Amino acid sequence: MQGRTSIAITSALEAGASYADARFVTSAAETARARNGALEGLTSANQIGIGVRVIADGAWGFAATSEPDEAAIRAAARRAVELARAAATTRRNPVRLTEVEPVIDDVRASFEIDPADILLQDRIALLMDCDRLMNKSDVAVTEGHVSVLRQSKHFCSSEGADIHQELIETGGRISATAIDGNETQRRSYPGSHGGQVMTRGWEVIEEMRLAEHAEEIAQEAVALLAAPQCPSGEMDIILAGEMLALQVHESCGHPIELDRVLGTEASYAGTSFLTPDKLGTFRYGSDVVNISADATIPGGLGSFAYDDEGVPAQRAEIVKNGIFVGYLTSRETTAQLGLGASNGTMRADGPNRLPIIRMTNINLEPGDIPMSEIIRTTERGLLMDTNQSWSIDDKRLNFQFGCEVARVIEDGEITGIVRNPTYTGITPEFWGACDAVADEETWTVQGVPNCGKGEPGQTAHVGHGVSAARFRNVQVGVLGDE
Ligand SMILES: [Zn+2]
Repeated sequence: MQGRTSIAITSALEAGASYADARFVTSAAETARARNGALEGLTSANQIGIGVRVIADGAWGFAATSEPDEAAIRAAARRAVELARAAATTRRNPVRLTEVEPVIDDVRASFEIDPADILLQDRIALLMDCDRLMNKSDVAVTEGHVSVLRQSKHFCSSEGADIHQELIETGGRISATAIDGNETQRRSYPGSHGGQVMTRGWEVIEEMRLAEHAEEIAQEAVALLAAPQCPSGEMDIILAGEMLALQVHESCGHPIELDRVLGTEASYAGTSFLTPDKLGTFRYGSDVVNISADATIPGGLGSFAYDDEGVPAQRAEIVKNGIFVGYLTSRETTAQLGLGASNGTMRADGPNRLPIIRMTNINLEPGDIPMSEIIRTTERGLLMDTNQSWSIDDKRLNFQFGCEVARVIEDGEITGIVRNPTYTGITPEFWGACDAVADEETWTVQGVPNCGKGEPGQTAHVGHGVSAARFRNVQVGVLGDE
């Protein structure tokens, strides 16, 4: 049989589409999960399918099938055209797309250690080792997981693009929860929600050295039970690692998604304060704040070779010396705003979902001060570590983040820990109060594997390159106290 994607495109064009693209996707995800010394689950999920996206009568249509035989693919293509024609009856202006050079390419996943070579029993043994090291008195729950995703994607368009792309993602995390009476404290490594995930092989797990951190996080969870509550009031804070990544994610990554800005996407705290009149002039942060969107970083969870419109991965400036200068865009939104070519951020969560604008790696560019120097020059502050909770309003302006632990800094030295810390702020004021960004020595790309958006919901895997940053006079307090 003729290639699946070309069957889809030929059928869509025969049915009257003026543009068509098709994605044939196969993926396999494997996770091993342990809890309290027992194997809690071994899951493996395979997906196969083809999604067909068309423009007919000036409107979008999309249909997908998980049965990749010729008849089902032809039916999906015809259905996409029917849906487009129906949508066209209520659409005022026809869809326009900015140009993209149609590419023919074949991109392999890159890794040093193939996860397929790591036996299941060795993956489980690693989790059990960590459990043993975390198992201390007062630690009530120990958890750990390692996961691997492999995906193969074949994208073709009626403009002549023909791109085969392979992807691999590897990640993991451990955590220890200590309980004493009503007090519960958890410490996780590395990061709290999905742990660390990268588009690399098993070397990611080896470099994390999970077992070497197991004892230390369990001890700290226990120590937090007896630690003082976080103080309340205005204080300097330092954010690093996963917490700084989440701060960039929620207060910059989401509001720069141009579909939110234009009002076509409003789910999950959906719109944005970064309206088009602000592009190029709005002061988003202080002079030391430089943010880029970069899908080309080797290993970043938001890295790929081509997006799901066949646009090559790019690096785009978002905030330059504190001024807001760029959005995450698509071929349609760039045409709507007259912005030139798409910067390549359209991605779909699987073959049966329409691509939407998603973060790539949204990075806070490193500054020129060592992390140790930022701590040394902080008179009275808190180093917030590992996100625990977050909330942010619809326009992405007012936010509150809770962390697993905060380290107290007095006269330039870390002197102890406090429990249940939170901080609040208003996005441009908060970034405006950023007076120091640490240099590349502590700069790493943190993976966020659980970014939700869309209706029906889609989960994106995105990344954030961050070092550490200090913010002056931030409102801090105790989680749960309002
Ligand atoms: Zn998100």
